Amino acid sequence: MNLAESLRSHSFRRWYERQLVECHLWLVTGFLALIMTAIAVEMIAFRDSAAGMVAMIAIGGGGAALCLYAWLKFNRQLGLAEHVAGQATCSTCRTYGRLSFVSASHDAGAVMGWAVRVRCRSCGHEWSIA
Ligand SMILES: [Zn+2]
Repeated sequence: MNLAESLRSHSFRRWYERQLVECHLWLVTGFLALIMTAIAVEMIAFRDSAAGMVAMIAIGGGGAALCLYAWLKFNRQLGLAEHVAGQATCSTCRTYGRLSFVSASHDAGAVMGWAVRVRCRSCGHEWSIA
């Protein structure tokens, strides 16, 4: 769920919490894939059949690819969550994360690809999160 949809239906804090849970699930996935890769590499026996060796190399390669993918997803999602969280404080009343959705528009220069216009629920101040 992207930020605009989450702000419409839930809240910023729920979106942020969900981002952190998802990115840490990617971290756990990457760690398990790393263990899978290590086990596959350890089990490669060059004196066994060629098919068994190829299967272990394929499992190890798949695990390494999954580990790399999970690490990139973890970093991307955590970076995005932190980037948005850094803009979630109202500059007028210093309230953090109490936002309501106003509008969304495409912005090629924004990290998310679009800018979300938000309003502080405490004082009504509006700004864009990009
Ligand atoms: Zn405010």
